[in-house]
Amino acid sequence: MIPRPFEYHAPESLPDAIALLNQYGDEAKLLAGGHSMLPMMKLRFAEPAHLIDLGKIPGLKGIREVDGEIRIGAMTTENDLIWSELLQQKCPLLVEGARLISDPQVRYLGTIGGDISHGDPANDHPALMLVLGASFVLESTGGERVVPADGYFLGTYYTSLEAGEIMTEIRIPTPAIGTGYCYAKLKRKTGDFATAASAVMLRMSGAIVHDVAIALTNVGQTALKAREAEVFLRGKMLNDQSISEAARLAMSICEPSADLRGDVEYKTAMAGEMTQRALRTAYSRSAT
Ligand SMILES: Cc1cc2nc3c(=O)[nH]c(=O)nc-3n(C[C@H](O)[C@H](O)[C@H](O)COP(=O)(O)OP(=O)(O)OC[C@H]3O[C@@H](n4cnc5c(N)ncnc54)[C@H](O)[C@@H]3O)c2cc1C
Repeated sequence: MIPRPFEYHAPESLPDAIALLNQYGDEAKLLAGGHSMLPMMKLRFAEPAHLIDLGKIPGLKGIREVDGEIRIGAMTTENDLIWSELLQQKCPLLVEGARLISDPQVRYLGTIGGDISHGDPANDHPALMLVLGASFVLESTGGERVVPADGYFLGTYYTSLEAGEIMTEIRIPTPAIGTGYCYAKLKRKTGDFATAASAVMLRMSGAIVHDVAIALTNVGQTALKAREAEVFLRGKMLNDQSISEAARLAMSICEPSADLRGDVEYKTAMAGEMTQRALRTAYSRSAT
């Protein structure tokens, strides 16, 4: 289908973009890489009269470390994440996750800010953000607010982003050296979204789990933090029994919708399997 006619705006500063958002209100949508927005417009699920492109605004791209925190501009592409030496060294989970998103075409244009803002439970960054303890910088005429990823995702295509706000930056506490990590994603073929996926960050203290974070993709209305599984594992030995119980607890919060990728039982089972694999791989990558 062809999108309805719209007016295209390409502001060259953040205040100009915010002013346009306020001027056109509900009639306006932001455009980042366009790989979710344009398909929605072609299907007429979204029919904005004004499209505000963030691509010409300086300062919204880039990856740096400031005071023990990794700061990523919202317009940074998946490809930029993959090739970042800083992330490869200090936050390899994000590199692993970005490499599993779709195909090179999507990764060259799709942005981390767009992936998070879209609020699609099938997108991979929300679960990654939950286990990394990320927070998001949202700017509006009222100034800036910083909100944690945990609690940000409210429902399908529904986040805490308010009218007139633009996500400008993603902040991630630099993971401690020796933290194990894994994003285990089951997909039917290259370019597909996850049937189910599990993100894990793991810190061991000898043979005992010191801390663990687990989040799931595409098995609920939003990315899901597997809190009970996390609590269960803390202070325990990581072995076949405890991994299996953690997976069971993770599966207990899944509420996937049946579709071409599988029925509810299959997707739930795959969320458990991905959690087991992610825990084992994270363990093999962690310093004990
Ligand atoms: C074939 C295909 C396969 C895909 N597979 C995957 C996959 O496996 N995993 C995955 O995670 N994603 C996948 N995607 C989605 C892709 O990663 C998109 O690029 C991403 O969801 C949106 O990022 P974008 O930069 O393209 O944003 P856009 O499409 O431009 O925008 C998406 C939404 O976010 C809003 N928005 C964008 N930037 C901001 C901002 N800075 N502040 C506030 N709101 C903003 C827009 O208004 C819009 O509502 C796939 C896409 C395609 C086409």
